[in-house]
Amino acid sequence: MASLRLFSTNHQSLLLPSSLSQKTLISSPRFVNNPSRRSPIRSVLQFNRKPELAGETPRIVVITSGKGGVGKTTTTANVGLSLARYGFSVVAIDADLGLRNLDLLLGLENRVNYTCVEVINGDCRLDQALVRDKRWSNFELLCISKPRSKLPMGFGGKALEWLVDALKTRPEGSPDFIIIDCPAGIDAGFITAITPANEAVLVTTPDITALRDADRVTGLLECDGIRDIKMIVNRVRTDMIKGEDMMSVLDVQEMLGLSLLGVIPEDSEVIRSTNRGFPLVLNKPPTLAGLAFEQAAWRLVEQDSMKAVMVEEEPKKRGFFSFFGG
Ligand code: ADP
Ligand code: MG
Repeated sequence: MASLRLFSTNHQSLLLPSSLSQKTLISSPRFVNNPSRRSPIRSVLQFNRKPELAGETPRIVVITSGKGGVGKTTTTANVGLSLARYGFSVVAIDADLGLRNLDLLLGLENRVNYTCVEVINGDCRLDQALVRDKRWSNFELLCISKPRSKLPMGFGGKALEWLVDALKTRPEGSPDFIIIDCPAGIDAGFITAITPANEAVLVTTPDITALRDADRVTGLLECDGIRDIKMIVNRVRTDMIKGEDMMSVLDVQEMLGLSLLGVIPEDSEVIRSTNRGFPLVLNKPPTLAGLAFEQAAWRLVEQDSMKAVMVEEEPKKRGFFSFFGG
């Protein structure tokens, strides 16, 4: 029998929901793409426990990648809202200047009246630039600038640090998490976005161009003193890994040498939710990618990681989605 490359986790606290047996996943490979055949998936939020917050607050996390289009903004929206649903107060900063789109993903685009630039210029107060999500009031969005505008002279890492300090000392209390959606590339916008952060989530897809950029970014983050770097491997297709047309998660981990926060499958629901301005993790019933984002958020809170291992075994013995646990 041909051997199969799979990946799995030793992360036991978040198991694949029982309603979604591995057998179902194997026998219904088009499960994700065929809503009519989808059996309800239960969210990890039904677990009767809140994740334990590790580390000092506010945790200032930059979501970065180097390469564009790998899923930074998707990760910021979904991990950020998952953290809010776990009960933590979250401020998400869209530091992608000319190509800002976190507001679109969150469906908050019509409510952004002021940005950080106006705050810094003294044209408005910080609380006027913070957009509170109506679904989860402990989630707020802060945009650096208006879409398609250029970064004003003098707005750099120091200005963002000043804003983060202002968030820490605001009257209603410091947020638990400040999540910064970083622009692609490694130029001034990237440097600005990483300046206030003390930890990073590196998002990559399992392809060599994204990996080369991710490796370069890891080096730059370390030079900047950010040592706590975890990675999310996004848009993973198990059918392609099986056919050896895509790198396995273990291959990615071996190349980058970073601990693994989450593995997100390729899921057409991500694109649907992006276009609707309704983040995936709010979907009912949740989708596989939504669950994977929730689990990544859980690990982020607890400063936990998952393990990718190469399993050489007969295909029928393990589910393709074994990275979800168990
Ligand atoms: P970035 O912020 O890194 O430029 P985005 O988060 O904007 O990337 O994602 C780029 C595109 O990829 C979007 O259209 C998004 O819907 C899509 N995408 C991201 N993650 C997934 C996924 N797991 N499955 C399918 N599409 C995805
Ligand atoms: Mg983006």
